[in-house]
Amino acid sequence: MSTDALARLADQIRSCQRCPLARLRTNAVPGAGPADAEIMFIGEAPGYHEDQQGQPFVGASGRLLEKLLAQIGLSRDEVYITNVVKCRPPANRDPMPAEIEACQPWLRQQIELIDPLVIITLGRFSMAQFFPPTARITRVHGQPQWQDGRVIVPMFHPAAALRNPNWMRDMEADFAQIPELLAAVRAQRAARDQNDTGPEQLSLFEE
Ligand code: URA
Repeated sequence: MSTDALARLADQIRSCQRCPLARLRTNAVPGAGPADAEIMFIGEAPGYHEDQQGQPFVGASGRLLEKLLAQIGLSRDEVYITNVVKCRPPANRDPMPAEIEACQPWLRQQIELIDPLVIITLGRFSMAQFFPPTARITRVHGQPQWQDGRVIVPMFHPAAALRNPNWMRDMEADFAQIPELLAAVRAQRAARDQNDTGPEQLSLFEE
């Protein structure tokens, strides 16, 4: 984890020209949060307010995210928040496959630098970065999956939960699991560090 490296990466993202969204943006939105965050939230793409301010999740979805975090005793300053696509698609349309692909290396580098214990994907575009295309969010939301020494949990996008009271309830229940999942990954990593005497030992603790 390195604050400088993450800041340098954010600067690169702000001047990115890898896809046509670069010409349409007011600001790219690299992400926000501490470099040593244990939890990373990954949304879809910036909306109007995010594009104006250069910050992720500052509109209605962001307010819901903050409320859900508060319910589990966390504030947004303690987690890292980013998106699959770092620039706003026009009129908030869905990001296109070529835009997602062009942006993918930025997300990969953020994950590598921050090395979060838990990743929460918000919505189907974010889920598709980690789960097979056959996964349906209505079925798999809230089901944690171990990947590369961390837990990934797919959840509804806050905008979807704001539209559907059932999904809001689901989202609250999914959020309530986060502290326990975090504790499980902390324990798993501590066990791995203690036994980190070689590749054979390490493999014992791989999921
Ligand atoms: N929705 C997203 O997916 N990301 C944001 O940053 C804001 C709204």
